[in-house]
Amino acid sequence: MEKKDLDWGSLGFAYMPTDYSYVSNYKDGKWDEGGLTEDHSVKLSECAGILQYCQQVFEGLKAYTQKNGDIVCFRPDLNADRMFNSAARLVMPSFPRDRFVDAVKQVIKGNAAWVPPYGSGATLYIRPYMFATGEVIGVQPADEYQFRILTTPVGPYYSGGVKPVKIVVPDYDRAAPRGTGNIKAGLNYAMSLYPSMLAHKEGYADNMFLDPQTNTYVEESGGANIIFAAKDGTLVVPVSHNDSILPSVTRRSLEYVAENILGMKVVRRPVRFDEIGDFVECGMCGTAAVISPVASVTKDGKETKFENGYTTVGPVMKELRQTLVDIQTGDREAPEGWICHVC
Ligand SMILES: *Cc1c(COP(=O)(O)O)cnc(C)c1O
Repeated sequence: MEKKDLDWGSLGFAYMPTDYSYVSNYKDGKWDEGGLTEDHSVKLSECAGILQYCQQVFEGLKAYTQKNGDIVCFRPDLNADRMFNSAARLVMPSFPRDRFVDAVKQVIKGNAAWVPPYGSGATLYIRPYMFATGEVIGVQPADEYQFRILTTPVGPYYSGGVKPVKIVVPDYDRAAPRGTGNIKAGLNYAMSLYPSMLAHKEGYADNMFLDPQTNTYVEESGGANIIFAAKDGTLVVPVSHNDSILPSVTRRSLEYVAENILGMKVVRRPVRFDEIGDFVECGMCGTAAVISPVASVTKDGKETKFENGYTTVGPVMKELRQTLVDIQTGDREAPEGWICHVC
């Protein structure tokens, strides 16, 4: 198979259609057979549920080429589980987990020529999503849905080397207590755009949201979970009283790597914002960057710096990040079931 003639190293993070998308429709209480399509557009009724009451959930994962030439993706079963749960919360039909993984494999295989070569740092980004196509005007769940997967090649997240970023605590919440913060839905992103835009305008890379009930505890950023390293090397993972933190696949994988491969101590507990100055490193974790090291967090004009990670990525985040990247690229043995072989 001949790869597409792209300058993989200089790709950014922007949509570029590939050869195929995957599509399956839900009607009369069941999903159709589904399959690949060359049509990258969606035609909808003006009254479709997604356009009126915002029933949409999504996922994000990456496919890449390992050293031996195999095309693989990382733990798609966890994305399948999460989308299953997200859909249930928005009263959408769940897409069967085994079919989800199969669809992800089909669409990667169909677009194998678009999966960046080993060592380029680029990946094929996979975006499964589901939305209400059925017509609704009275407020209620729709009765028809579409599940789609689009793929698009994306460049290395850090082209100039991993560099710590400054983030800021916004005057807005991303989730409500007992709301939808723990599911992956577009609606959670729509409301984070405004504080995110303000943060960028002030020169910050991202937001650190606090718990929406008391504004006292650390939750996460708009699209990544947060982890800390304590002075004694312990990895501290914030837990939400409100269950309003999205269960990141990357963060859960990093916890496992820390505990079982690197022999680190991992503590999961609520983390008060006023204690973060005691930590020596901080990172934001998600599929895109694996870990983005955080240099400092500013709240009400006061900057808290992480002493081991302010100018360059600190040793804990660096080792965690490299270990997980090596597992993903096949340069290090993966825990059972983590690497999903496609072709
Ligand atoms: C997708 C997402 C993450 C990261 O999850 P991964 O599975 O690691 O990519 C974290 N927080 C939010 C709010 C997200 O939507």
